[in-house]
Amino acid sequence: MTLSATREWDFSSEQGKANYKAAQRRYPAQAIVDLAALRDNMRHLVSVVGGPHSGTAVMGIVKADAYGHGLVPAALAALAGGATWLGTAQSHEALLLRKAGIGPDRCHILTWVYSGAEVPFDELVDNDIDISVGSLAGIDGVAAAARRLGKTVRVHVKVDSGFGRNGFTPAGFDAALAKLVPLAKEGVLHIVGQWSHLAVADAPDVPEFVASTDMQVETFKDFTRRMEAAGIPPEIRHLANTAATLSRPEIHFELTRPGIGLYGYEADPAMGTPSTYSLKPAMTLQAQLGTVKDVEAGHGISYGRTYLTPSDTSTAIVPLGYADGIHRSASGFDMEGAKHVTKPGGPVRVMTSEGPRLYRV
Ligand SMILES: *Cc1c(COP(=O)(O)O)cnc(C)c1O
Repeated sequence: MTLSATREWDFSSEQGKANYKAAQRRYPAQAIVDLAALRDNMRHLVSVVGGPHSGTAVMGIVKADAYGHGLVPAALAALAGGATWLGTAQSHEALLLRKAGIGPDRCHILTWVYSGAEVPFDELVDNDIDISVGSLAGIDGVAAAARRLGKTVRVHVKVDSGFGRNGFTPAGFDAALAKLVPLAKEGVLHIVGQWSHLAVADAPDVPEFVASTDMQVETFKDFTRRMEAAGIPPEIRHLANTAATLSRPEIHFELTRPGIGLYGYEADPAMGTPSTYSLKPAMTLQAQLGTVKDVEAGHGISYGRTYLTPSDTSTAIVPLGYADGIHRSASGFDMEGAKHVTKPGGPVRVMTSEGPRLYRV
């Protein structure tokens, strides 16, 4: 008899079912991404901002291979759920989305991280990708590409409202405006957006952090006023990550940028659990137990011998280790300097003859 704690998966195609069977033959553990859950999470996030006609659009953040869920399938699931924008940190991933056939008629794509001379500005412009500008050098680079290609480039002006990462500071903004205004007038740049990122929107339980987010919002609004006064008002403003999309409707503006919520999680456990927000984790890690055997009392289990069997014991191996990405800190031990200390190990749900039970590594 085989006991399994994994759920029965429904597949929308025979191919999906065959892929799953092949994965189980090849590896004793599988990371399964439920694309329907991704789509439903996006559908929910779109409803949170008031639906498709609310005046607030939603950008699915699919950076870093869609938080490990697979760039292109996750992007398509986000679009199926009602996202009308996609965002990637790295420009390479924005280009991959276009190469996969997600054209400018389908959605806008914004990218924001680039460095030094190795920026594929021409390719980005050629592929109708919106580009963030948050430095004077960035403005120059984008403008040069626009002139080379004879094309007006859609840009989003990144402002540092307090995060301390990229973007113009309040003190450096006049210099940015002095560059942006003539380029906009000339039609080299189309100033689409003004945007910024929040540092602590996921800590609604810490008054000091709530106040800090309030300050970021005020600073963000100051930047908007300065763009308006300079004659380049942003068409859309975007500030909200998942945490603010879920908890601060007053700053949804014209666009929000959820990432972790798309994948089915709340931004921080302090905010509750996924179900608090009607989100469903899209990834499941499962494994088929290997080597079930009996050992005597006092037998050390695995690295560090931090667990010694208190009596004669049955053991079963979950065939995943640190080479697979399960860090050793998930075990019931840690180091304080050179000293071993014990702590609860990571949770593992195992099917037993008495039903599913939670164990700790
Ligand atoms: C990653 C990222 C997001 C998404 O943040 P989540 O907390 O995952 O929702 C939004 N905006 C920017 C600029 C990001 O880098």
